[in-house]
Amino acid sequence: MSEKEFAQPDESLYSPNKKGPLGRAFAPVAGFGVTFSTLFRPAVTEQYLPHKPEQKTPPRPRYHGMHRLNRYADGLEKCIGCELCAWACPADAIYVEAASNHPGEQYSPGERYGRVYQINYLRCIFCSYCIQACPTRALTMSTEYEVADQTRESLIYEKQDLLVPLAQGMLSTPHPMAEGTTDANYYRGEITGPTQDQVDWVKQVRPDDPTVSSAQVSTVATKEAQN
Ligand code: SF4
Ligand code: SF4
Repeated sequence: MSEKEFAQPDESLYSPNKKGPLGRAFAPVAGFGVTFSTLFRPAVTEQYLPHKPEQKTPPRPRYHGMHRLNRYADGLEKCIGCELCAWACPADAIYVEAASNHPGEQYSPGERYGRVYQINYLRCIFCSYCIQACPTRALTMSTEYEVADQTRESLIYEKQDLLVPLAQGMLSTPHPMAEGTTDANYYRGEITGPTQDQVDWVKQVRPDDPTVSSAQVSTVATKEAQN
């Protein structure tokens, strides 16, 4: 190889510019130039005051916040305890234990329900893999982002912390599936509310259940299921 190929590049191409006498004189305070130029611009800091919710900036509608375990319109839980969410989780943040539904103790359509359901928010990275893996849309994410707490134990959310409350007109569980339906009717979204048979069953087994009087009976479920 020739000597020319090993010649060093021109040093001025990568060396910092040499300062003149004025530059050297102001060098110790030159960094403050950025400070002073920013001092009189409007602040972009967003207030975050948990005790003043009116000052909180609402997240975007598709923001991935805390999880929710959803219900069908008749009150049955959508989670079937399949554990696919736990297997999909890259942070090993979900723990599920399934149990069998029984005729007198039916919590979800089909054979099984999620008896134990935990999400460890010390591990969760809010990637949403779990909700994409869920076959029944039982698990979704809300826009709630206030997850901080004082202890490790309080950041492991149990099923009762994640399960959505009963909406107006739903019937509390356990109760049988809508008569004449299979779990497929539930998965297809054909259940629009508790049927009279379901309400009567709860009235007989738990006469003091407050959701019996508020249940909004639906006839659509059975009609569609029989088609
Ligand atoms: S959002 Fe991601 S890290 Fe959090 S529980 Fe779901 S899969 Fe795991
Ligand atoms: S939340 Fe969905 S994926 Fe997870 S156990 Fe329940 S049904 Fe299965």
